Amino acid sequence: MRASQFTFDPNRCTGCEACVVACWMEHRERQSRPWRAVHTFNAFGHPDLPVFHLSLACHHCESPACLEHCPAEAYTKDAATGAVTVHADRCMGCRYCTWACPHDAPKFDPGQGAIEKCTLCPERLAQGLEPACVARCPMEALGLAPLAADRPRAGVAGLPESATAPAIHIAPLRRPAPPALGQRPPASALGAFLPALLAVPHPKITLRGEWTLLLFTTVLGVLAAWLGAAQLGGPPLRPWAFLASGALVMGLSTAHLGRPARAWRALRHLRRSWLSREVAAVSAFLGLGALSGFAVPALGPAAALTGFLALFAVDRLYRVAFRTGPWNLHSAHTVFNGLYLLGLLAGISPLAWGLGLAKAGLYLHRKRHAAALSRPVRPWLALPRLGLGILAPLLLAASHPMAAAVCAVLGDLLDRGEFYGELEVPTPQLDLVAAMRRGIHEAGTS
Ligand code: SF4
Ligand code: SF4
Ligand code: SF4
Repeated sequence: MRASQFTFDPNRCTGCEACVVACWMEHRERQSRPWRAVHTFNAFGHPDLPVFHLSLACHHCESPACLEHCPAEAYTKDAATGAVTVHADRCMGCRYCTWACPHDAPKFDPGQGAIEKCTLCPERLAQGLEPACVARCPMEALGLAPLAADRPRAGVAGLPESATAPAIHIAPLRRPAPPALGQRPPASALGAFLPALLAVPHPKITLRGEWTLLLFTTVLGVLAAWLGAAQLGGPPLRPWAFLASGALVMGLSTAHLGRPARAWRALRHLRRSWLSREVAAVSAFLGLGALSGFAVPALGPAAALTGFLALFAVDRLYRVAFRTGPWNLHSAHTVFNGLYLLGLLAGISPLAWGLGLAKAGLYLHRKRHAAALSRPVRPWLALPRLGLGILAPLLLAASHPMAAAVCAVLGDLLDRGEFYGELEVPTPQLDLVAAMRRGIHEAGTS
């Protein structure tokens, strides 16, 4: 059997959704919600742009991001068929693969607390049959073909740019002439339905959904800074308080899982997954920190260093959902927060001032970036974030280091809260909205 790819011809697809129903009928015992979806471009029929449909599911990528990032090694790729399979019995429900996959293929089933997705119908392939969606498409718009190297990898609306090499070939659209409406509607008439046409889909990641991660990453930064400061003459570590906070950190991160009993699987993929590395580093940090506080003070420096390595791993995790340039530097980095706090608590003025000013600059840059992308800027948060989180701590550091630290943590909490609100993972829906914006801009009818 040779590795396969889906083929799709938008010139044939009528959007009937028979493929979605066929997939549901084939896998209804293990499908809590549809694995395949039909997306319509220009659903309201903007007269200058074509209307077409895309039937998409998992693309069984050649370099699957889901497989690379899953800490539990719940994904496998079959060398014979190319199918990428998620094994629900190995999934711990962290949902990180739903962030990592730019094609919105992994679906979280809250009932099972695990991920499910298109399987490429291996049982049917073994019998020489086509996948159910392909077999039931009345227009022969969907197909399955041997994997080809020459499929287009960029510039296809609905296929966000990524390094995953999706195994799908989408035929070029033979752009139909705009519908003959006689006189084109004036821009003022178009304006009435443009907001609906360009509505951005509900974000996948929200602060409300991820508040435990906000607390987890904040408390972790405070503990790393506190332990580090204790080594440098700052406030001494209180072992019981450290232990209680560490237990809180672990509890928060475990509560986030769909299947907390499988949390141990998080260490399965240290070789490639930053989530595995983060869990390993946090565990080592809390263990070493407690040991240094209760019994072996000489372990303090190693524990503090491990804490900052854990923060580095935390920041790496968010790269799939937040990009601000090649270095991806931003003011809500947990490493920056930890070092800033370390500078304040240990009385290292150059560190505190240097990072405080750098964080203020990066924060303002992030606001400018958000404004340029027409995203919410929330200027009313800038004053408390910069006043309470940067200015007050720097002025108070020499006389009241603890008060300065509390102000800094509150400011960083605000910043990180905003950061969670700005996280955005690419999806076909977002890519189609972006293509609509480009099309309307080029047509000059905005
Ligand atoms: S489409 Fe997403 S879930 Fe499917 S193989 Fe590619 S990265 Fe993995
Ligand atoms: S363990 Fe996490 S990343 Fe892996 S399949 Fe389950 S939800 Fe996705
Ligand atoms: S069954 Fe075929 S024509 Fe109908 S929506 Fe699916 S791909 Fe398109």
